Amino acid sequence: MALIDGKAVSLQVKQQVKQECDKLKTKGVTPGLAVIIVGDDPASQVYVRNKEKACEECGFYSVKYALDADTTQSKLNALIDKLNKDEKINGILCQLPLPKHLDDKEVINRIDPIKDVDAFHPVNVGAIMIGDYNFLPCTPAGVMELIHSTGVDVTGKKAVVIGRSNIVGKPMAMLLLHENATVEITHSKTLDLKSITKEADILVAAIGRAKFVTADMVKNGAIVIDVGMNRDENGKLCGDVDFENVKDKCSFITPVPGGVGPMTISMLMRNTLTAAKLQNGLI
Ligand code: NAP
Repeated sequence: MALIDGKAVSLQVKQQVKQECDKLKTKGVTPGLAVIIVGDDPASQVYVRNKEKACEECGFYSVKYALDADTTQSKLNALIDKLNKDEKINGILCQLPLPKHLDDKEVINRIDPIKDVDAFHPVNVGAIMIGDYNFLPCTPAGVMELIHSTGVDVTGKKAVVIGRSNIVGKPMAMLLLHENATVEITHSKTLDLKSITKEADILVAAIGRAKFVTADMVKNGAIVIDVGMNRDENGKLCGDVDFENVKDKCSFITPVPGGVGPMTISMLMRNTLTAAKLQNGLI
């Protein structure tokens, strides 16, 4: 078994982004990211802080807009409209989920698709579907980078994705398909899940259930990618995969923490760089 080191791969991506950012600066362009956070959810605060830190590492301009938990939809919409027009801002990200009285969908639809560095806008989702895109959704794109880091060719492999969310499972399946894997998407209504996962050369778990994937569900020699971020019975951070018991069956496996998590932010940096190039006619 070999461990896939998400921290190391993520660092490489950020270094490449920084180099390209330095080149852009010589042309008078500094990539800019605006991050909007509404309310004081502790997990969201951590994610936003990490995004600001990554912007600093890459040499980007970044602005955080921290809005009160009782912010109205119209105030939030007005901020997005302002950022859509702001030339210093190339990427806009609104940390989800929003407080219950606000509409995630309205926010996603309001961000200009060319500044939608999360790739959640229907225009960008459609572009991914047809394989003609500017931005890839950060977590699935990060997973593909980790798979590439193994040196294994995805073509012709049987890939199984557990989970069908719009932000992870569905786009994940699409990216694997673009690279010629034979892909199966599974979910909570899938019958006899184990019989499907046991056939997978590449197994991606995006479920949100601690240690759900057990050794008997995994094919010998599989690549196992764990997207899950959960707390175990002792409150310790863990993935969707029962790492200790699964690891020896795999050719490659991602740990939690230190696997997919760091990649998501690096891919956000890459998307922001791409957005800056696009908006300045440099692609
Ligand atoms: P989600 O929207 O809750 O989707 C979970 C998916 O898992 C659903 O499609 C659900 O099926 C499926 N599922 C639930 N129970 C199942 C079961 N018993 N058997 C088979 N499938 C089952 O979650 P998400 O946003 O995709 O996130 C998934 C996990 O990844 C979470 O732990 C989240 O924290 C983590 N995550 C990590 C990152 C990162 O950067 N590392 C980024 C995003 C998410 P149904 O559709 O039938 O309900």
